[in-house]
Amino acid sequence: MPNFRTHLGIVILGSFIVVLPALAVEPLRKLPTAEPVVALTFDDGPDPEYTPQILAILREKQVKATFFLIGMKVQAEPELAKQIVTDGHTLGNHSTSHINYSWLAMGNLLRDIRDSQLEFKNSVGFFPLYFRPPFGGYKESQLSTLDKYYKYVVLWSEDGLDWEKGQTPEEVVQIIEKALVPGAIFLFHDTNPVIVAALPQIIEMIESHGYTCVSLGDFFGQSQF
Ligand SMILES: [Zn+2]
Repeated sequence: MPNFRTHLGIVILGSFIVVLPALAVEPLRKLPTAEPVVALTFDDGPDPEYTPQILAILREKQVKATFFLIGMKVQAEPELAKQIVTDGHTLGNHSTSHINYSWLAMGNLLRDIRDSQLEFKNSVGFFPLYFRPPFGGYKESQLSTLDKYYKYVVLWSEDGLDWEKGQTPEEVVQIIEKALVPGAIFLFHDTNPVIVAALPQIIEMIESHGYTCVSLGDFFGQSQF
């Protein structure tokens, strides 16, 4: 079920002003569960160098994850995008070219949704149900539009900071261990060597605490349409 937040809407009925609650969609920052499950998510691929290495680690560890791919890169690397799906992971949309949606007017927002979804449809054969806005950037006024095209707008509960300059694999493992709670959604990027080095330890650490990693598709029972 999507998360909803109540806004106040004002309706004028005759000479009366009635304040009604209106529903707006909230992005997903955690999985709605008290069970010891967490989601590993990888943004900004598919990357010809690092995505195959991430996939190999996940295969060896028998872990399912979620990849938020950039439309232009999917077009450039359709076989890698298909491999992610074949391996049983969930694939999500991360915009056409990694533009910050909080800068976009409605016309450009609709164009980016349409263009990126078509790039996925043409390359992997389906429209992703999950969307993560680049930089986590969006306007509140865009959420109802995004909700028409996606099942969930997905943010994260903890950023692994694998992208940060000078970051070490050990520091990434520590960040994730401190943020390990039921339903956590962890943000990584399959575009750097730090996460490749850290991922086996991250998975072992998570499992040593009795947690299981799930893909969004496995958790919600559906990943595409
Ligand atoms: Zn990104």
